[in-house]
Amino acid sequence: MRSITTLDIQYAHRFYGFRGEAQYLHGHTGVLTIEVEDTIEAGVNMVFPCNEIQKTAWNVLKNFDHALILREDDPLLPAILSVYEAQGIKDGAPNNKMKGEAFSTELATAYPNCRMVVTKETMTVEGMIKIVYELLKDKLNIAKLTFTSGVNAASQSYEPIDSVDRCPLCGIALNENGVCPKCGYKK
Ligand SMILES: [Zn+2]
Ligand SMILES: [Zn+2]
Repeated sequence: MRSITTLDIQYAHRFYGFRGEAQYLHGHTGVLTIEVEDTIEAGVNMVFPCNEIQKTAWNVLKNFDHALILREDDPLLPAILSVYEAQGIKDGAPNNKMKGEAFSTELATAYPNCRMVVTKETMTVEGMIKIVYELLKDKLNIAKLTFTSGVNAASQSYEPIDSVDRCPLCGIALNENGVCPKCGYKK
């Protein structure tokens, strides 16, 4: 069975080099749906607690929220960084607190201090799914990702990995020693 959760991500981007309105800087509220597949853990009668899926995903994905997402070859990138630098906000600001864990993958690098994510490919809904899967595939047993942004939507299904041992008391994944990191239950 699947546990399904959604997250809202507000971001700005543009499609550099695209012949359409989307070549201009603009913003969206994107909705990411994450489907996690496994057996039902009998103790809690759940596949996985949805708030825990959200917490795990948000820890990384909050880097995309209230962020500017630009492709690595977009000339707006150095232009914006120089403005941020002149303003003294490139390396952080006291009220920039909602920062995620910095990451760098083949497809995207997060710069939480200036709320930017630099991508290798254009950040379409399809591109976002590739980026998100790479970031979360080792943390969650993902069966499907769906990303919608305005009228655009894309989804991709994945072959879930083998079943994960979960705590019969709170449903979250046990660590490598078979201990629940939340309540201390031991298998
Ligand atoms: Zn757009
Ligand atoms: Zn537990």
